[in-house]
Amino acid sequence: MNPIVPSPSAVPSPSRRAFVAGLGVGTLALVLAACGRSASTSAAPAAAPSYYTCAMHPQVHSNDPQGHCPFCGMNLVPVYGKTEGQ
Ligand SMILES: [Zn+2]
Repeated sequence: MNPIVPSPSAVPSPSRRAFVAGLGVGTLALVLAACGRSASTSAAPAAAPSYYTCAMHPQVHSNDPQGHCPFCGMNLVPVYGKTEGQ
């Protein structure tokens, strides 16, 4: 028995496992980075919305964040960077 030389069947398994683990960690880091970026931009807007409107009916203007479209009942979405009445 020579303990220094590993058996041929044992060699590819650990290195391959490490390679796959590295790929998984890299992919996970990318996903986490992408998620964190999108979450930070959507969760904390820099400015308060000018008003709220319906995605389907842009003529709807409301100051109520919890408001609903009077035409289709959808939740109103915030609009930024526009002055009300235009
Ligand atoms: Zn609508």
